Amino acid sequence: MRVGGTGTGRWSVALVALALLSACASAPRQPMAPEAALDLPGGEFLFAHAPQDTQAADMVRRAVANASPRLSRWGTFHEPVTLVIHPNHAALERAANRPGYDFLRAWARYEQVEVQSPRTWTRAGASQKQVDELLLHELTHSLMWQASASVSDWTRKGIPLWFSEGMASYTAGQGYRVPSLEDLARFLHEYPQADPLARAESLYETENATVYGAAHHAFTFLMARYGEERIRATFTAMREGRDFNAAFQEAIGLPADAFLRDFRRYVYLRGFKGGRLNPPGGPPRGEGQGLPGIPMISPTPPSLPVRSGPPDTTLEPTSATR
Ligand SMILES: [Zn+2]
Repeated sequence: MRVGGTGTGRWSVALVALALLSACASAPRQPMAPEAALDLPGGEFLFAHAPQDTQAADMVRRAVANASPRLSRWGTFHEPVTLVIHPNHAALERAANRPGYDFLRAWARYEQVEVQSPRTWTRAGASQKQVDELLLHELTHSLMWQASASVSDWTRKGIPLWFSEGMASYTAGQGYRVPSLEDLARFLHEYPQADPLARAESLYETENATVYGAAHHAFTFLMARYGEERIRATFTAMREGRDFNAAFQEAIGLPADAFLRDFRRYVYLRGFKGGRLNPPGGPPRGEGQGLPGIPMISPTPPSLPVRSGPPDTTLEPTSATR
């Protein structure tokens, strides 16, 4: 489903703000000859770049070191990660196999991250803070895949875009970049048939900001309601052989599609406003497992345009993900 063209104007500012966001993909590629390993407690990192990007590579290297302590909540890398610094945007698009993705600045895989040289992000180049944020986001993806799968089956776990992007955005503290919960509520009211979570891939190009915003807020909701220990247990269950849906149900305690319906209700009914718009007939505030700012939503709200079937989208090599 495509809803772009009707609601894109409202999101254009957010899209610009997302310009430094990046992308992630499958299918490892052969790196340029890597050099200068960086050994950190959480993993080993290699860097490949052209001579004109020595300074940019130093920024990337610093960003990896800065990311390391914030990545440790999710575990450690099993395999070394090679960071390939590309001299321009076209080279990045080629390496990522994502032509026309102007907003792309990086692309993560299981054991390799493609990065457009920070020297070329803007006319004046990127700041260390911007590089730090991008690399923390990208390395979160690589770490999630390494924590959940082997190099041979990481593209087949069926990890949905909302989960991987939400986790990366949450870890990198990128909530300030995405549309707010109120923006998302308005979107769901305006386009009740659209599903930026379970059908994120179909909206990725036309409603990029909405997809990232929904992912960020859904993962934040997951963290607040179920905690990071259960999320780590999801990775362990996948590494033991389960796919995402089975692992999520086992570790979190409910099917992923049921979780997405809960989250959609929470947004649609503006539960984030402290329950002002609790569903008629729902439990009074304070009942159930409501958390500060995330009140428990009635399991049987009035009829809603919920369309989130089981997530049917994965990070397959051909899907448009970042
Ligand atoms: Zn990402």
